[in-house]
Amino acid sequence: MDILISGASVAGPSLAHWLHHAGHRVTVVERAPALRGGGYAVDFRGRVHLEVLRRMGLLDAMRARATHMGDIAIVDRDDAVTATMPSAIFSGDLELLRGDLGEILYEATRDHVDYVFGDSVATITQDADGVDVTFERGAPRRFDLVVGADGVNSRVRELVFGPVPQRSLGVYGCIFTMPNEFGLDRAGLMYNEPRLTVTIGGINPDQAVISLFFTAEGLTYDKRDRHDVERQRRIVADAFAGAGWRVPRLLEAMRTAPDFWFDSTAQIRMERWSRGRVVLLGDAGYAGGPGGNGTGLAVVGAHVLAGELATAPFGRAFEVYEHRLRPYVETCQKQASGGADFLVPSTDRKIAQRNRFFRTIRYLPPVKHLFKHLATRTATAFDLPDYGVLGHTRDLSGNRGNVL
Ligand SMILES: Cc1cc2nc3c(=O)[nH]c(=O)nc-3n(C[C@H](O)[C@H](O)[C@H](O)COP(=O)(O)OP(=O)(O)OC[C@H]3O[C@@H](n4cnc5c(N)ncnc54)[C@H](O)[C@@H]3O)c2cc1C
Repeated sequence: MDILISGASVAGPSLAHWLHHAGHRVTVVERAPALRGGGYAVDFRGRVHLEVLRRMGLLDAMRARATHMGDIAIVDRDDAVTATMPSAIFSGDLELLRGDLGEILYEATRDHVDYVFGDSVATITQDADGVDVTFERGAPRRFDLVVGADGVNSRVRELVFGPVPQRSLGVYGCIFTMPNEFGLDRAGLMYNEPRLTVTIGGINPDQAVISLFFTAEGLTYDKRDRHDVERQRRIVADAFAGAGWRVPRLLEAMRTAPDFWFDSTAQIRMERWSRGRVVLLGDAGYAGGPGGNGTGLAVVGAHVLAGELATAPFGRAFEVYEHRLRPYVETCQKQASGGADFLVPSTDRKIAQRNRFFRTIRYLPPVKHLFKHLATRTATAFDLPDYGVLGHTRDLSGNRGNVL
């Protein structure tokens, strides 16, 4: 089939990988003018995520680019360490910078997949035999199937399903990189005030990833603001105005950071993920928000969707894809729904409680296993089907990636 995928981040190229191996012609359209870099780290955790990467033949290539981040020290405004958060909580089993992950997926597929950067789907009209798509820049085309892998604000979703309310988690945040002037090498610092969380991740001796997260009631931030970066910087500066510790210096760096990213955190919950010949994948259909295993869900979802398409006609395949994946998605979303208070505690008492938890648990044997269990229990709550029909692929390190 001729298949269009909208979005070249994690879900889109992962699906393109499998569809190519199943013999389809794949086009990926990406709105950004080039492959998106971006410093923040994403992670895979537990056997299900890792098995999918192994089946893709990319596990070794990804391990070679892992961040190997250490623990995060929680500090007070005088820089005194009050507790330590183990890396398993934040970094999972395999953490990569999102830009590195995107590059690996792109490099693994670019020779077989037609990537079109700097364009977007404009209209979608489907009939019994195919889907007519117009683009903002390119010429119209007809496809057999269209996949929306274009993230939490998906254009494909909007065009085909109409407005779908986003379930706000009430947390806003920005992420950017700056020179590593903190002496942190593969280690992190976290600082809190009520409703404010700051982390500094020293991902290498030169570069630090900064995240500034906050909760705010009554903040209006909507569709129009998504492209207004100056307003976004103002929102963050206002939220953190007057905060202590290193915050003034971080705000100064934020004002000029070229890779500044800001968004509200939201979940997407839909009754159906497909309509006719159009199907949603990854955050576009089922974003979980922070703590929702979104990167893992994107690669697992891509594998299941491609596996089902290799097994049955598309209508049936979409149904089974959804039937198999939905309970897993719901488990991950449930975990993330309760995450706001963990990510951004709202009072001094809640900050102290969280810190006490991490201090106490350090002395309980066997701590390592407990953290591992806590960190992976939702990510592993899935029986990965056996899609032998997709064949196996060679991984970038030259080993045979044994699929099954
Ligand atoms: C700050 C932050 C930190 C995160 N940390 C973690 C983490 O630690 N662990 C984890 O598992 N997950 C994390 N996530 C979630 C994770 O990034 C997403 O769940 C995951 O990237 C989903 O991948 P996706 O491909 O579905 O969507 P996205 O990564 O959002 O990609 C969507 C792509 O579609 C493109 N696009 C958008 N509109 C259009 C259009 N109209 N036409 C064409 N292309 C379009 C976008 O440019 C983008 O490239 C984090 C997310 C954020 C924002």
